[in-house]
Amino acid sequence: MNKQKLLASLPSVDEILKSEKGLEWQKTYPRRYVLQAIREIINQHREAILQDKAVEASSETLYPDIHKRIEKLSAYSLKPVINATGVVIHTNLGRSVLSEKVMEHVRQIACGYSNLEYDIAKGKRGKRYTHVQRLLNEITGAEDSLIVNNNAAAVFVCLSALAKGREVIVSRGELVEIGGSFRIPDVMSSSGAILREVGTTNKTHLHDYECAINEETALLLKVHQSNFRMVGFTKSLSVEELVTLGGKYKIPVMFDLGSGCLIDLKSYGIHIEPMVQEIIRAGADIVTFSGDKLLGGPQGGVIVGKAEYIEKIAKNPLMRAVRVDKMTLAAFEATLMCYLDEDKAKDTIPTLNILLQDIGKIKTRAKKIALQLKKAIGSSHTDISKIDVIEDSSQSGGGALSEVEFRTYAVSIKPLHLSVNTLEERLRHSNPPIIARIKEEALIIDARTVRDNEIKALVRGIKAAII
Ligand SMILES: *Cc1c(COP(=O)(O)O)cnc(C)c1O
Repeated sequence: MNKQKLLASLPSVDEILKSEKGLEWQKTYPRRYVLQAIREIINQHREAILQDKAVEASSETLYPDIHKRIEKLSAYSLKPVINATGVVIHTNLGRSVLSEKVMEHVRQIACGYSNLEYDIAKGKRGKRYTHVQRLLNEITGAEDSLIVNNNAAAVFVCLSALAKGREVIVSRGELVEIGGSFRIPDVMSSSGAILREVGTTNKTHLHDYECAINEETALLLKVHQSNFRMVGFTKSLSVEELVTLGGKYKIPVMFDLGSGCLIDLKSYGIHIEPMVQEIIRAGADIVTFSGDKLLGGPQGGVIVGKAEYIEKIAKNPLMRAVRVDKMTLAAFEATLMCYLDEDKAKDTIPTLNILLQDIGKIKTRAKKIALQLKKAIGSSHTDISKIDVIEDSSQSGGGALSEVEFRTYAVSIKPLHLSVNTLEERLRHSNPPIIARIKEEALIIDARTVRDNEIKALVRGIKAAII
């Protein structure tokens, strides 16, 4: 057939739009994407005809390509991925995973009206923070509490409310950077508080703090060394010592804990992450921590402490700028409810569950993945790749438990006909994307963070990427 005839056989945009398929697409997808996809695919075919590469095209033959293009155009940008990195609290992959039970509460509250700021008993305006205050106070032992958008905001608003224009004493060993742009000295200066650093990088003594105290001192601040550890010739003050010092001079003590751990991890061999309850019991006036690190809840910053300071912080105008929404509050309430019985928390909170799961279970999962993978690839799998289950270590991530390595099992895949970097890249482009790590020329699928209901999709994705 000649080019003219082929070109004439191409359907028009309007024809496809008005076809049964076209009308169906317009019901399901945004019209502009349907239109764009039809135009693009028709153009592609026109180009192909002009370059002598195409055969006759009718509406029917174009439909599959158009449909694929529409789906691609109208896919959500934010999408689930399979976390095969083994990093449990992975900031880039959304930190904590919420349970179905928590999401059910969020769904109910978000999909309708609620008593977010309405006091049902009094029939008038209430406060949004009351919904989590009782739980937070019961669990942490604090007098009062607030929740803001994240821990960075919590630190910022506390400093601004309690120390604006006045001095805050911090040990030089605790002037940390948490990643992103959260650095204690920078947060301090933008809050309007004046940093008064004391001691040295490795050692800060009681007298260092005491010598720095003057009538301008508003706060003694302690910051948890979340993502690094100092060993050797070191000295820092305990919360108890700081509280005693603060008491002597009537200066409040604040502790930025970073990861809000609410259960005792010592029985799991983890001794370095302080519990919020311990810090409150030690007498800290204000404690701040994240909602989506070890606590395993939604993104948020929790402020707990003495009522007189919480009241002052609550009145600060910045509170409005860092205010949490109803979905966050609902997720917090449902998550905190799981902590009322500590032994239940580690089963019902996915982050704790993934972190503290039995090593035998991880091994079983790794074996299952390896077996299903070999099966899926078929008898030729030994020609294509070397697949083994290996023992390895994974990290908790999120700045929490930085130097604690958790024993884990992983599937190691050494592709024989393509580079491991190509395989890693192809997996990132799978649907759903699979995020894995590379170690010594092998692709490592850490079974710790792969959920059981993701194994099928994981195997399908790896098979498609490797064959
Ligand atoms: C993680 C962390 C922060 C920041 O918390 P976000 O919730 O990520 O804003 C602040 N301080 C410390 C010590 C941390 O570990």
